[in-house]
Amino acid sequence: MKIDEILKNKRTLSFETFPPKKGMDDLDKTKEVLKELAKLNPDFISVTYGAGGSNSKGNVELASYIKNELNIEALAHLTGGPSTPEDIDNVVKELKKNNIENILALRGDKPLDYEAEYCKYFKHATDLMEYLKDDGFTLAGAAYPEAHVEAISLKADLEFMKKKEELGAKFFVTQIFFDNEYYYRLVKEAREIGIKSPIIPGIMPLVSPKSIARTKSMCGSTIPLNYRNMLEFYQDKPKAFKELGYNYAVYQIMDLLAKGAPGIHLYVMNNTTTANEIVRRLENVIKEYF
Ligand code: FAD
Repeated sequence: MKIDEILKNKRTLSFETFPPKKGMDDLDKTKEVLKELAKLNPDFISVTYGAGGSNSKGNVELASYIKNELNIEALAHLTGGPSTPEDIDNVVKELKKNNIENILALRGDKPLDYEAEYCKYFKHATDLMEYLKDDGFTLAGAAYPEAHVEAISLKADLEFMKKKEELGAKFFVTQIFFDNEYYYRLVKEAREIGIKSPIIPGIMPLVSPKSIARTKSMCGSTIPLNYRNMLEFYQDKPKAFKELGYNYAVYQIMDLLAKGAPGIHLYVMNNTTTANEIVRRLENVIKEYF
């Protein structure tokens, strides 16, 4: 089923996962992770696509496993930056063969060790969407509550978001954020310029001090001062630190739901403990509000 159809009828719970960088053994391990995540009844699971384009096989194989073995909708990420039209044709062929109906179309970021010309054929996500728009997939796009790091302004970023919708994006998934006010501003300004599609907030529970640095360097999201102070206070006590990460994410989610978010996308990044902890804490909320 197409994810935009699910979104018309209910709030969605979804998880973001990634394929292993190495071989088949690791792929089997990732399938075990997906099996565990499936027990939490998500509406869809997304699988990332390497910014360098190297793990496309893993991406398709895991998306297919989610869809065809676990019977859960799969959202396959696809990055245009490292791809030629032929690469995209090949992935599209495989996705179709495996009944995958949903693609999150992205640009990607040039990896440091990437030597070839990046974005040679698909300069922006919109170019990839233009290329994919008649292929019958439900397309989704990325959205940035604090504006994309390269954007000259949120307003400019929103115009490109609108272009994504015009090219067929049926929903958006946001970058990670820790201050819900950025999400509310994004939704408000998006609606003001006529963007109608659901904008699913992306939430990442911070479960270790290391994850803070990684998250900050990857997406530059602002951490509010009161949360930063707590992260600092608990940083030497790993169990308490995890509790803080889970509880803060739960607080964000409960606030987002109360203000009408169409679903929650959890950046669990193959961590089943994190997924279990969040879903357990939200058991009644999920029963009553999803
Ligand atoms: P774009 O939409 O192309 O935007 C990039 C910049 O260009 C922005 O500043 C925007 O304002 C501007 N822009 C957009 N369109 C145009 C246009 N037509 N003309 C001129 N300027 C334009 N990366 C991966 O490598 N693999 C993944 O699987 C992956 N999954 C992600 C999932 C989510 C939910 C999010 C939010 C990000 C993900 N990323 C992933 C990271 C993403 O690739 C980077 O954030 C990248 O820098 C931008 O991708 P984009 O699709 O938003 O690009």
